[in-house]
Amino acid sequence: MSVNKVLSNQETTLKILSQSVRYQSVHSSSQPLPSQSVYKKIAAPIMTAWNTVLSKENKNWVNPFGNFTKPCFVCKYYGHSFQECPNIVPKYRGACVRCWISDHQSTRCRRTVRDPPFKDGFCPRADLLKILHELCK
Ligand SMILES: [Zn+2]
Ligand SMILES: [Zn+2]
Repeated sequence: MSVNKVLSNQETTLKILSQSVRYQSVHSSSQPLPSQSVYKKIAAPIMTAWNTVLSKENKNWVNPFGNFTKPCFVCKYYGHSFQECPNIVPKYRGACVRCWISDHQSTRCRRTVRDPPFKDGFCPRADLLKILHELCK
């Protein structure tokens, strides 16, 4: 991965967080944040992509839970299979997971492999975990 790609990913990640991490204004400026769980610190929901909430209810979670012991093949979050992945653009759900054209199955795919068509601002799970870890310090 090129440096530029990494940087632009980080920028996106920060953008998502500034979109979702809104501390209550009372605590914002000078006072240190109370050391509660990170999920309580964050007033607005965390997003994994544009308009896509990180929550078990939304079947989009960072860790295994319930019957979801394996991550989504495409986005690596837990709670759904790749056919119903909430982190990719809806029209690509059910398409071939290699080339993202929908007229064949991926097992028969002979086309060039393409990056998944993630929604705008998609934050990879590894990056989100890093950020959550930072917030927990
Ligand atoms: Zn997914
Ligand atoms: Zn294909």
